[in-house]
Parts: sequence; C-alpha cells; structure tokens
Amino acid sequence: MSSVYILGNRVDSLTLAEAVDRVAGFIAAGTPHQVVTLNAEIAYRAYREARLQEVINRAALVTADGAGIVWAARKLGTPLPQRVTGIDLLEALAEAGSRQGWRFYLYGAAPGVAARAAKRLTVTYPGLKIAGSSHGYLAAADMPQLLAEIKAARPQVLLVGLGAPKQEYWIAEHLQELEIPVAMGVGGSFDVLAGVAKRAPLWLQRLNLEWLYRIITGKRFKRALALPRFMLAVLQEARDKRQNP
Ligand code: UDP
Repeated sequence: MSSVYILGNRVDSLTLAEAVDRVAGFIAAGTPHQVVTLNAEIAYRAYREARLQEVINRAALVTADGAGIVWAARKLGTPLPQRVTGIDLLEALAEAGSRQGWRFYLYGAAPGVAARAAKRLTVTYPGLKIAGSSHGYLAAADMPQLLAEIKAARPQVLLVGLGAPKQEYWIAEHLQELEIPVAMGVGGSFDVLAGVAKRAPLWLQRLNLEWLYRIITGKRFKRALALPRFMLAVLQEARDKRQNP
C-alpha cells in the first residue's frame, strides 16, 4: 500500500472502494486494526501533538477526510486519488457489511443517538447486523463494563463517535483488549445519521441567541480557524521539500 506524509502524518493513497476492500481484508485477518479518517484540523493538531501523530501513524488505515488533505497532498507533490470522508466510508462499510453479514457496534454521541443511528443504518442497509450501541458520556467507573459488553458482542466493526481526537486515543488504548478486527473513529456521524442537531444551553435559547451558539460551536467555524494554520504549515513544508528534496 502506498502512503503520503502530510505534516508528518501518514495518509494512505486509495479510493473509497479500495478503502472498503482493505477493511474487508482486516476483517478476514481477524486481528485488531484501527482506522482513522484524517481531516486538516486533526492533521494540524497531530503536527503539534506527537502522541496523536504516533496513534495516526500506527493505524492500519488512514484516509484523506476532506478537501484540505487532498489539497495538501497535491501541494507536496504526492497527490491522492480522492477524498475518503468518515461518513462516506461508514456508509460504504454498512453497505458492504449488509451483504457480508458483518456486525457493527456503535459507541458514542448523546444517549439514544447511537441507537437511532443504528436503526437508520439497518433501514437503509437491510441485512446489516447491529451487535449493540452505547452513548458516549459514560463515567470512567463504567468503562470496564462497556468494554466487557463490546467484547462479548463480538462485532466485526466498532464505530466510535466521541469526536476527534478523543476517539482515536480511546481506540488506541482499548483496541488490543477488545479483540475486534476493525475500530474506526467516526466523529459526529451518529448525530448526522440520527438527524439530531445540537441545541444551545437553555439560557442562550431564552436570549434568542441559539444562532450565535451554532456559528461559534459549529464545525465550520472551528475548521475555518484551523484551516489557515494547516495551510500555512503545508506551504512551509512544500517549500522545505523543494529546497531539500
Ligand atoms: N461525544 C461523546 N462523548 C464525549 C464527547 C463527544 O460521545 O465525551 C460525541 C458528541 O456527542 C458528538 C461527537 O462526539 O456526537 C463529536 O462530534 P463532532 O462533530 O464535534 O466531532 P468531529 O466530527 O468534529 O470529530
């Protein structure tokens, strides 16, 4: 498999279909594999946070989640075939899973959301099996029980929606003991699948300022702030690469 490096982060060079094939290979092999869908925001964070970069570079599969990563790869002279976003890979795996009888476990998001997301997946992809689901706000004391439950459910694919990089760290920490072939961080995908919007705190709603909360807490705003820093660092790296090929 060929890979490129963006700010020290490995990104695997493959299409969505090839990514699905690789995951099918992981399931056939049976040993634990971590899947990361890397966006510009997390790539920049990992550039500054060695521990996160290690987790990414040790993963079995890292896909280019978004136009920022695809742009960076091109700027660095190592173009990628296409972007493979978390939600696209999730849906493609659900589709493949429905044909192959894979079981999915969904862990993350607010209470009830993962279960609704699971329901939505089984409606869209009949044949897909749901091994279980759990919300993502458990107390540390409840973690051993969750791990035991996931392990007992024996899913082929564990989807972890705790937001990045929390989910990447969680998977790296627990993957080996879970003995699940594939664990993948899916960010806010359960919210998207379940069709839930995050509400502002009540006091902001009362002040009719929920719109402001949406803008400030929204992904677009956070990404908008991270993106210029990411781009500057990539342009710098491209310049260094040209000077010291
Ligand atoms: N979340 C969770 N537990 C936590 C923190 C976050 O389950 O302790 C969930 C949150 O409810 C949401 C997701 O993680 O469903 C994070 O979504 P976001 O869109 O912020 O993540 P991104 O896609 O940017 O990684």
